Amino acid sequence: MAQRYKLFIGGEFRDSTTGEIFDDINPATLENLATIQIAGSKDVDRAVEAAEAGFKVWSKIPAPKRAEVLFRAARILQERKEELAVLMTEEMGKVLPETRGDVQEAIDITNYAAGEGRQMLGETTTSELKEKFCMTILRPIGVVGLITPWNFPIAIPAWKIMPALITGNAIVFKPASDTPLLAHKLVEVLIEAGLSPGVINLVTGPGGTVGKAIVQHPRINAISFTGSLDTGKWIMEECSKTMKRVSLELGGKNPVIVMDDADLELALEGVLWGAFGTAGQRCTATSRLILHEKIKDEFIKRLLAKTKALSVGNGILPETDIGPVINKAQLEKIERYVRIGKEEGATLLFGGNRIDPGLPGYFFEPTIFTDVKPKMRIAQEEIFGPVLGILTVSNLEEAIEVANNTKYGLSSAIYTGNIGNAFRAIEKIEAGITYVNAPTIGAEVHLPFGGVKGTGNGFREAGTEAVKEFSEIKAVYIDYSGRLQKAQIDSAE
Ligand code: NAP
Repeated sequence: MAQRYKLFIGGEFRDSTTGEIFDDINPATLENLATIQIAGSKDVDRAVEAAEAGFKVWSKIPAPKRAEVLFRAARILQERKEELAVLMTEEMGKVLPETRGDVQEAIDITNYAAGEGRQMLGETTTSELKEKFCMTILRPIGVVGLITPWNFPIAIPAWKIMPALITGNAIVFKPASDTPLLAHKLVEVLIEAGLSPGVINLVTGPGGTVGKAIVQHPRINAISFTGSLDTGKWIMEECSKTMKRVSLELGGKNPVIVMDDADLELALEGVLWGAFGTAGQRCTATSRLILHEKIKDEFIKRLLAKTKALSVGNGILPETDIGPVINKAQLEKIERYVRIGKEEGATLLFGGNRIDPGLPGYFFEPTIFTDVKPKMRIAQEEIFGPVLGILTVSNLEEAIEVANNTKYGLSSAIYTGNIGNAFRAIEKIEAGITYVNAPTIGAEVHLPFGGVKGTGNGFREAGTEAVKEFSEIKAVYIDYSGRLQKAQIDSAE
């Protein structure tokens, strides 16, 4: 029988007040991996109370001491890397090399955040008055609510949890209902690393009830959310009612431009990895390929040959290139978009169907549309599956115009041998990330991550920006002149 997982509140595993449960299903085999409790609004209240108590203790511990817990957590993650990667493939389907990468990303951000324990830099600056000292310091926000998606079940929670912890906050964490088990494992790691009770609280259950209760809770001071644009918009509106800080990391419709002067073999590898890795279920997945007309035919021919050779199946097997998609609803959404693409007049070059690799799960062929036009829905909307749309352009200016022609702006890439083209793309593409001669996937934890337009609301995760995401900034003025000095008035003399 599948193991039953409780909520984690105030340093203890506790039964939920609803008594309800849900199953955690392997999307390749449809086996039940675990039974998970559904929290109610009373449990969220209890989690907030516990976090408030945890905050009182944790925020007073010096940051370099908090860092010791994180360094221990990173070491435990490293020791458990293979076990967690296997479990992640079972829980959400992506192939083992990718789930190992997911855990590694969590290790990296944990070490990075721990290092911040001896940084967390403010500024010291000059004053317009004599004998006055000016500086800024960072303070924790308080209780923060973290809501995460399923496509990076350990990396994305860690991207939020570790910076939130090092900056002294306490957490109410709601993971995606498709990947609650990995969330439990991450919390286990933090407990083993010695995190004080109440500093992290895990409440599982549907976004529509548990997530909503977190977003609307009057004593949660900030929300950090990664997920879809629609949910993000709703959360932003709700947070305005309680004046919560809210940071949003939302969808993408990420373009790769391949110019006629590009190394085509390199670009092919990058497009395949970007479009079909994680079965296209990455916020940074390549969903639009913008080809220069001069290399279009040759590139498509070679891309088709390589796509046909990809193997779809259980991500746990070494021969698999593409695992299942996350659930039935996602499979049906992808099918719907394939129908829309055909109806809009795009040419289905390859794929477009469910596939049966001898397992009952949710498998879909890598799919390529050609003759895609910029205004088509398949070129505008996030499909979140292994579907690539190819658009053709005649020069760089047109390529950039097409690249910018969506409501999203997360990742982007250009393949070119011309340094001028590369810099023009860096300057003009509207996105939070631009890669040159590399795929749209491949963020590193010490650089800021996030996007523009519909992808977010101006915050960035990772890097030093993550410290800002989870800190309040205070300006401090110290006047040691011993007399009243009036800024803007005395300084004008
Ligand atoms: P989603 O449906 O928006 O769900 C994300 C999280 O929000 C889940 O934990 C979900 O809970 C919860 N949720 C749903 N409705 C809610 C509500 N009303 N109030 C509070 N929480 C709520 O997104 P998803 O399908 O899991 O993830 C895919 C999306 O995430 C894609 O758009 C992708 O591009 C985006 N994403 C963005 C980034 C980035 O950094 N920019 C990274 C990864 C993914 P349940 O699971 O219980 O529904």
